[in-house]
Amino acid sequence: MNLLPLPAFSDNYIWMLHDAGQALVIDPGDAAPVLQALDRLGLQLQAILVTHHHSDHVGGIAALCAATGATVYGPAREAMPAGTLPLHGGQQVKALGLSFAVLDVPGHTAGHIAYYANVPEQAPLLFCGDTLFSGGCGRLFEGTPAQMLASLDALAALPTDTRVCCAHEYTLSNLQFARTVEPDNAELAQYQQQCQALRAQQQPTLPSHIGLEQQINPFLRCRVPAVAAAAQAQAPSSCLNPDDAVAVLATLREWKNNF
Ligand SMILES: [Zn+2]
Ligand SMILES: [Zn+2]
Repeated sequence: MNLLPLPAFSDNYIWMLHDAGQALVIDPGDAAPVLQALDRLGLQLQAILVTHHHSDHVGGIAALCAATGATVYGPAREAMPAGTLPLHGGQQVKALGLSFAVLDVPGHTAGHIAYYANVPEQAPLLFCGDTLFSGGCGRLFEGTPAQMLASLDALAALPTDTRVCCAHEYTLSNLQFARTVEPDNAELAQYQQQCQALRAQQQPTLPSHIGLEQQINPFLRCRVPAVAAAAQAQAPSSCLNPDDAVAVLATLREWKNNF
């Protein structure tokens, strides 16, 4: 099984999986980079998996369907292009011989879903759209901090070697913020250096993995005392209870929005 991030727009990745001449893509906001990759690699597009309704994730679906006849799967609770097969959390999708578990991860949007698959002889895969980023999380456009915390908790509970395939290259700006929250986190400092070196060579910082995100991502660390204390110092009138992980996440998210 081969995994490729196809760059799109200024900072999106359209993830492509392919094996034995068959491919699937996740969140094709633009058809062109997908059609180019299919052509270059001699692949047939079997399926399209969609995490949420934003145009930079769905914009290429109609053109890809017209060109390839691929089957499209997307969240049942969001408006999707016509013909999309609706998915709820708890369901499974089969494609490329893999079985993808559908996870409900509301917060960025109200009906956002993620896809998790075990892969023979490889680490598991997570396609999490705009919910979890390396070093950060999505903005809360439609959901609440409590929903986002529950969604991130569910993703953090996946096996530590799970490859985290996020839909945007936001890592460096996320890590700059994370370093402000946790200046004494040595793993975070080391990871920032690695990512800076990758970006200097125009290489993706992704996929990340769950075990690493647990160590460096402040939004997965709302219950870590140093993170809670940083949020408490930032909260208006410092009335935040550091044991209230939802309030810590809400404060971190607001702080990052204005960072
Ligand atoms: Zn989005
Ligand atoms: Zn996006």
